[in-house]
Amino acid sequence: MTTFKINTSGAECKILVGESIENFTSLVPEHAIVITDENVNRIYGKVWKGFKTIITTPGEKHKTLATLEDIYRQLLDFGVDRSGFILGIGGGIVCDIAGFAASTYMRGIRFGFVPTTLLAQVDASIGGKNGVNFHGFKNMAGTFSQPNFILSDPEVLKTLPAEELSNGFAEIVKHALIADAEMFDFIEENAENMLQLNPEVINHLIKRSVEIKSGIVNRDEKEKGERRILNFGHTFGHAIEKVSGISHGKAVALGSVIAGKLSVQRNYMNEKDLNRIIKLLECLELPIKFQGNKNEVLDALFKDKKREQDAIFFVLLQGIGRAFVEKIMVEELKQLNF
Ligand code: ADP
Ligand code: ZN
Repeated sequence: MTTFKINTSGAECKILVGESIENFTSLVPEHAIVITDENVNRIYGKVWKGFKTIITTPGEKHKTLATLEDIYRQLLDFGVDRSGFILGIGGGIVCDIAGFAASTYMRGIRFGFVPTTLLAQVDASIGGKNGVNFHGFKNMAGTFSQPNFILSDPEVLKTLPAEELSNGFAEIVKHALIADAEMFDFIEENAENMLQLNPEVINHLIKRSVEIKSGIVNRDEKEKGERRILNFGHTFGHAIEKVSGISHGKAVALGSVIAGKLSVQRNYMNEKDLNRIIKLLECLELPIKFQGNKNEVLDALFKDKKREQDAIFFVLLQGIGRAFVEKIMVEELKQLNF
């Protein structure tokens, strides 16, 4: 087991990677309330037998204020007061809702996470962002609030559907691309092992991802500067996800290729690095060429970012492992060949 720490505005979050899910009991009070979803509860529910449990319906469309209201009601029914503790066990969606419920219920009670998807273990559960969607706007209502701990057990990934794994792979590649060229080499050498969920390889990649993301969050919790690089591949990624309905990981893979192409076009990165990125994503069975309607994607992108008016903060690469942010004119994005 390896421990990482996030220290921000007085709060400390311990991230335990490679710890068994059963050991959550040593981290929470006996009266802790578990928040999980139906699937996770069906597969792992016996691990938290004896704890009061709130079960949500899986799916992004249930990440809403209505679900939050339902959770508040159940917390009141259970008699939870300001000494309460919430443990979110599940994927990114469960962590987002549980974190938001905990950080707003009675002005905020303590909470922890056991992320059970690869995406949540390497990305979504880390960093203190939480929230719910509102009228089609992702994470429109939410807070920055760090959990007391995050316990990651790679064993639970064995029951994850393949689609969910590939969501995590895309974010792992993102971490390598923005911050660690050696990690990128490692992924190239171990792509096959990753697909097979080789425990040593997956453990190493989860740890390295957690280390990279927690380091960035420690330096810039509120996304005033450096944290923006974690959005690599996500400007186009979110727009593609919205218009085509493909999974987050696949959309981020496509967004990463587009950001790579723009980096080459602007002479920041060489063509060779771009080809390595494309080849690696292909090896990980992620898509590299967007097949749908480009104008719809551009529309979604500009609608989403209209606050920036005629320019967008865009994450580019100087090469594999070196990201930076630059304002790009909307016109240039329109001309982009993707
Ligand atoms: P994320 O945002 O991390 O992709 P979600 O919270 O949407 O994740 O979870 C994705 C799906 O996987 C949900 O249907 C959830 O119930 C299911 N799930 C989460 N963890 C596991 C697991 N360890 N094994 C099987 N299914 C899981
Ligand atoms: Zn993402």
